[in-house]
Amino acid sequence: MFDSIGNLTDLMDSILGVFLSIRFNNIVDIAILSFILYHAFKLIRETRALQLVQGILLLVAFYLLAMLFHLDALKYLLKNFFQWGILALVVLFQPELRRMIEKLGRAKITDLSFIPNPDSPGSGDVWTEAIGAVCEAAQNLSSTCTGALIIFERKTRLGEQIDTGTILNCTPSAAVFGNIFYPNTPLHDGAVIMRDGKILAAGCFLPKPQKEELIAKQLGSRHRAAIGMSENSDAVVIVVSEETGTISVAENGELTRGFSKDSLAKLLRSRLIPEEQNNGNSSTFVGRVISGWRKK
Ligand code: ATP
Ligand code: MG
Repeated sequence: MFDSIGNLTDLMDSILGVFLSIRFNNIVDIAILSFILYHAFKLIRETRALQLVQGILLLVAFYLLAMLFHLDALKYLLKNFFQWGILALVVLFQPELRRMIEKLGRAKITDLSFIPNPDSPGSGDVWTEAIGAVCEAAQNLSSTCTGALIIFERKTRLGEQIDTGTILNCTPSAAVFGNIFYPNTPLHDGAVIMRDGKILAAGCFLPKPQKEELIAKQLGSRHRAAIGMSENSDAVVIVVSEETGTISVAENGELTRGFSKDSLAKLLRSRLIPEEQNNGNSSTFVGRVISGWRKK
């Protein structure tokens, strides 16, 4: 009994000791580190590097497991990967790293707070009305052979592409899309990016596909940009051809052509509304894959 009280007092003493040994500079140290980590994560969230960071964290978890259970081969492999992999990552993600540092330099003092941004990724129900509006717009644009590019952002944040366009942040409707893509208007060139059921930006410039030479010759720069965007992210990209009025969808670097309003709605619902994801049957979507390759 007395023994356990003694142990408890010892424990309390050592906890108190830890608190008393904390100096002002330790607090400043931890505060600055938390600040840097918080903002680094916020910046990463806007790029395709987020998935990469998640992958690295998984590898770190495997490494810890390998250390804990003495899995020597795995430990050796991961240790070497971390040593050389970091260099490879810096080379691969050089554009993202440069932009992140530039963005940090441009940040206003009001941005540098710990208050989270209210525009977090929404759930499926924010998409229901947007899908209806996009499908109606796609049908109208197709019947008038008006070129269009519409991107549905999913998990990969498309901050880099959004930065190249004009922020609209408006509720989608067939009329708004008709206006945006009307030939020779200021925003008709480039792509519309949809986030959380809203038209976030228009006139956005998309990345090129990795292996352009493998794409069928009849596909011009609009369709190539759609394939490029879908290779670089998990976004669903809709293209309406100015030449033929054909509605196509690019996903994971593959372009499927020949959608109708209904088959487009079915595909979009299955991709964007979680409850419908399990019921969605991709073989029922009308369309023909004519070009592309799967991302590894
Ligand atoms: P269409 O069948 O509509 O003619 P296409 O695939 O043949 O399509 P182009 O005729 O080259 O493509 O279409 C050019 C238009 O595509 C540009 O005016 C621009 O609006 C859009 N576009 C081209 N490249 C990009 C890009 N990288 N990012 C965003 N939009 C692009
Ligand atoms: Mg063309």
